[in-house]
Amino acid sequence: MSSACAPASAAPAAPALQRPALAWVGGALRPWDEAVVHASGEAFQRGVSVFEGLRGHRQPDGRLGLLLVDRHFRRMCQSAQLLHIPMPVDADGFRDASVELAAALQAPGKELYARATVLAVEGHWGLGTVSDLVVLAYQQDSAPSAPVDLGVSTWRRSADLSLPARIKTGANYQVGRLARIEGRRQGMDEMILLNEHGRVAEATAACVLMVRDGRLVSPPAWEAALESITLELIERICADLAIPFERRPIERTELEIADEIGLCGTLAEIMPARSIEGRPLDPAWPLLGRVLARYRAAVRGLEPLPGVEVTPVPLPQSSSKESP
Ligand code: PMP
Repeated sequence: MSSACAPASAAPAAPALQRPALAWVGGALRPWDEAVVHASGEAFQRGVSVFEGLRGHRQPDGRLGLLLVDRHFRRMCQSAQLLHIPMPVDADGFRDASVELAAALQAPGKELYARATVLAVEGHWGLGTVSDLVVLAYQQDSAPSAPVDLGVSTWRRSADLSLPARIKTGANYQVGRLARIEGRRQGMDEMILLNEHGRVAEATAACVLMVRDGRLVSPPAWEAALESITLELIERICADLAIPFERRPIERTELEIADEIGLCGTLAEIMPARSIEGRPLDPAWPLLGRVLARYRAAVRGLEPLPGVEVTPVPLPQSSSKESP
């Protein structure tokens, strides 16, 4: 038998994934097992869906605060508009669903990662599309991301006229998945995708940060990167810390001579790279380390930053069973 048809058991096992009790689906909190999609629908057949990843951080008062919910809703509306998917909720409905699920699943000492997906549940090739909002949420540790060994993938982020990186849709992650599989074989933790011109686009689920000569540089969205919300905050942090920040194309060779490299995104926050294509990078992260500390303090309400808005998640009601 050819290796292309090797049984699935030959593949390395996946890490154990969380299976929370509840999900938001069909306009209400329901058991996890009810968050299903029919195989005949366009979400399954053609990947007609868009999503957002949201983060809940512990605030000084002990509550979880969902970061920039309205900003994520706006980006989701833009992704949905570009794929001609009607939004099933408005901003309030989106916020309420996220907060209700976070409130139900919060665990002491833990933070949260929520994944909101709008998917086509009815319709055919763009006709009669009806959508639903599904929100899943997972416990998350508050520790900073561990440093990663980064490679550069042979896979490319597609062009705006092929599959726009601006649209946060599952289909855009096919190439990221291939890049991760490629990277794993090379012993890399994460991979950078180049764009059709061979310049840096982004990583598989995060944007690229490069430090050269005291300046923090990241490619603009038109280099085939997602319009990153984390990057918007990093730009503000750089202004606050008087660190020059530039959005400009990054050529591949610049990665090879960069002083520091990192990745940024809602889940990763700011993840420093330990090495790039086998070349060790300064483990002190003199500039990225400052930005990371300021970012973590800002999103956890320890050091205010203009533009950081958090939606508080109510703490669980104290158990009435203990009352007389
Ligand atoms: N690019 C891709 C492909 C991503 O999945 C993410 C994570 N959402 C990012 C960039 C970073 O975007 P954000 O800062 O809005 O999370």
